[in-house]
Amino acid sequence: MTKFRFYFPDNKDFVDPNFDGRDNSRTKYHRAYDDDSYPHEILHEMPYDGMLVSLAGVGTMQKRGKYYEQELTEDFYFLGAREFLRLNKPKYANVKLMGDCGAFDYHNEDEPPFTVDELIEFYDRGRFDYGISLDHIVFPYFKNEEAKDAAASKCDLHELIAESERRIDITLKNAKEFYEKAKNYRFEAYGVAHGYDKASFIRSVKELQEIGYRKITIGGMIKSKTDELLDLLESLKDIREPDTEFHLLGICRFENIPAYVKAGVTSADSTSPMMQGLKGGKYYTLDSEEPKYQESLMIRARQCDHDNVQKHIEKHRDELRQHISNMSENNEFDIDLSNTALSVNECVKRLEKDCLKKLQRFDETGMDLEGTFKALIAYEKVSNESYLPSKLTPSKEGPLARNESKYRDFLNQRAWRQCGCGICEGGLMNIIFRANQSNRRRGIHNLAIVTKHKDRVISSLQSTLK
Ligand SMILES: [Zn+2]
Repeated sequence: MTKFRFYFPDNKDFVDPNFDGRDNSRTKYHRAYDDDSYPHEILHEMPYDGMLVSLAGVGTMQKRGKYYEQELTEDFYFLGAREFLRLNKPKYANVKLMGDCGAFDYHNEDEPPFTVDELIEFYDRGRFDYGISLDHIVFPYFKNEEAKDAAASKCDLHELIAESERRIDITLKNAKEFYEKAKNYRFEAYGVAHGYDKASFIRSVKELQEIGYRKITIGGMIKSKTDELLDLLESLKDIREPDTEFHLLGICRFENIPAYVKAGVTSADSTSPMMQGLKGGKYYTLDSEEPKYQESLMIRARQCDHDNVQKHIEKHRDELRQHISNMSENNEFDIDLSNTALSVNECVKRLEKDCLKKLQRFDETGMDLEGTFKALIAYEKVSNESYLPSKLTPSKEGPLARNESKYRDFLNQRAWRQCGCGICEGGLMNIIFRANQSNRRRGIHNLAIVTKHKDRVISSLQSTLK
């Protein structure tokens, strides 16, 4: 049976379940983590097949983690990953838990800051299903000899390769020790393959298989292009044992799933759908006909009270006053700001209010797209520095105009009204590019979409195999 598991790396991506973007209300006396919900708690369906938790993120009792406060670290070790992540209900029984060391967080250090024993303690006390060996990331990756030649003109290639070899040695030596010790524990061990070119990757995979590994993660390819990754997987085909399963560490380009499956990749982890939503303002939708998903640009309405907007107003007060008066003359908004006693801040605030009111009405009724779009762009023009006449260079005009047209398309399509993920039903204001809560919700919606997409692709692969 074809299988492909998507793991979502834990970065404390939880949200306040009582947040309402329409009036910005939240849980009273809100406590982070205790009052928050994980993506799987707030969505109707599981948005991933497993979660990946890193030792570097959680930390040990002695070494602080990058993401967890000491109190959460203690809870994690006490409860174990499943209970800590609130995946201990029967309906989550199939959700897998994978642990790794979080090598990306210490790639600048000479050696991994943890020992194999500390890592094993983390996996054992966390009660993980799978544990990944202690690795040290190798950067960069050269797709061919020409890429090496190009690098040689900019840096000391010999030194770079010697450092890469040193890191591969550390990784393989740890993998050997880890494999032997992990036999006494209930989690299944994954070995990490690193390389700076195809030959060194092939060597790593071969050695890991000789140690005994049949579960191998492909590491360090996070920065490489899709064709380089697929090319590498293709070249590993010849040496892969029939029962060896690959996991792609930190990289899953969901459009490549059929190629991954063909190459023996059975799982991958990625924060990309979350980050594209949270920081990139992307909103994913499933294509209704083909097994594809699209990325739309979510409309943005910055918070006027937020520091960034307040600083922008303070810094450009005079220019903004003139800008708003010009916009008024050009009939670029439909509210009256002619009272000269109004401060610039008050004008921007009123434009924000008008924009939010119209967006909400449009969300509910679908009426007056033009008036809504006009209010949205008017507010964008006073809250986004790039629109100030002194900043609006010809090179910025094109991208800004393209974004405007994407905003219009997004509003016009009203895709969020058809989404039943568990978040979008709360309305546009809960997923708009605006507040941390709505931005993270958009990322969570994206997780739901990529998993639906992935399941669709896998079931169509299965039916073609029948
Ligand atoms: Zn949704």
